[in-house]
Amino acid sequence: MNPPLAVIFDLDGTLTEPLLDFVEIRREIGIAPGLPILEALEGKDATFRAHAEAILRRHELEAIDHATLAEGCAELLTLLGARGIPVAILTRNMREAVDAFMRRFDFRFQAIYTREDGPPKPSPHGARVLCDSLGSAPAQTLAVGDYKFDVIAARGAGCKTALVRHPAPDDLADWGSPDLVVPSLRHLLRLWPD
Ligand SMILES: [Mg+2]
Repeated sequence: MNPPLAVIFDLDGTLTEPLLDFVEIRREIGIAPGLPILEALEGKDATFRAHAEAILRRHELEAIDHATLAEGCAELLTLLGARGIPVAILTRNMREAVDAFMRRFDFRFQAIYTREDGPPKPSPHGARVLCDSLGSAPAQTLAVGDYKFDVIAARGAGCKTALVRHPAPDDLADWGSPDLVVPSLRHLLRLWPD
């Protein structure tokens, strides 16, 4: 892979260690186990959705309060900053959680796309919007995430994809066939050699 000219990161489980307890969030909201939460809320009435959003908000802000950076995160963001490679966050979280993350760790991102901005991953819309914002062609942009939605969304937009997951999943086709699978963000440093 040529050194990517821009990088789009997922937040929870990618830049931070995974902290959101989706089983507990579903239980508190009262939706069926297994379903992705945002999709499970589609078609529910406004009262139910407001109740669910309040629960999600509390969990997302608590997660950022207790978040620790994923292995290699600080090193990678520092390297990209030093090289002038623009970076973005593409998350199904809300904007308030992303703002809290940036305040807490003092990182800068040139563009951000949250669930308030349009259809969430696995839709490719957010990755397209972010490539436009960063002024980067999708084929020269790397999207990094820890879940299949991250890979499917970015691949749909034409980006290169890296799945951060250890151990690597057995069935990569089911995970969107990422271009790279690495055990941690540290393993991406070699994409930008000296
Ligand atoms: Mg994630």
